[in-house]
Amino acid sequence: MLGAMGITMWTPARQREPDADSELPRRTEPAIARTMPPAVAPRAAPAADIVAFDADVAALGWDALRERVAACRACRLCESRTQTVFGVGNLRAHCMIVGEAPGENEDRQGEPFVGAAGQLLDRMLPAIGLTRSEAPPAQQVYIANTLKCRPPRNRSPEPDELARCSAYLHRQIELVQPRLLLAMGRFAVQTLLDSHEPIGRLRGRVHRWRELPVVVTYHPAYLLRNPADKARAWADLCLAATQLSS
Ligand code: URA
Repeated sequence: MLGAMGITMWTPARQREPDADSELPRRTEPAIARTMPPAVAPRAAPAADIVAFDADVAALGWDALRERVAACRACRLCESRTQTVFGVGNLRAHCMIVGEAPGENEDRQGEPFVGAAGQLLDRMLPAIGLTRSEAPPAQQVYIANTLKCRPPRNRSPEPDELARCSAYLHRQIELVQPRLLLAMGRFAVQTLLDSHEPIGRLRGRVHRWRELPVVVTYHPAYLLRNPADKARAWADLCLAATQLSS
């Protein structure tokens, strides 16, 4: 399984960069799940139109939510998208994965994580007994992005785009009612935990979105560029597995 993720062996701590994140939990000694409050940056109150928009979305069922997303024109991204990318997976999944935004392939196919990053994700999930293929809720994940539209040329999401789109993700989480959220990458973290801390500082412990446990890990696209961090991602998956089985 580690081989499928591109990990050939554990990297001994002394060979890794001497930074604050270098203590890796091992498979046989999964990180102790601790509940820590998220680092919360002070935020201005959302504008009245966003509050009304969010309240409206929060009342939708699956079909209406899907239709609302497909027709969404709440931000500038609607002008450049090919189509919206809603989410896929088991509507009762125990584990819900939250990514960043559709890329070129996702924009074309209308499904999250179908490009190179998605292929890595597909190889990571079986390492902890999960899959995106058809399976019961304990095994099949639900996958959604923080943004439902592709940012042009895959640029980073803008704060107003994240703020607008977050209502859709929140409603998806409420409808799925997962036992665990796996937040992949900094924009998922910003949306769920309202934190601008780097992933390296947040990973390794359990956070909360409302009452729900959230495990933070690197985005698969980041792992493709930084394979040395796959061992840390593996430790994060082990923490997620521990949390799911508790
Ligand atoms: N990266 C993401 O975060 N989501 C996708 O759907 C594709 C790439």
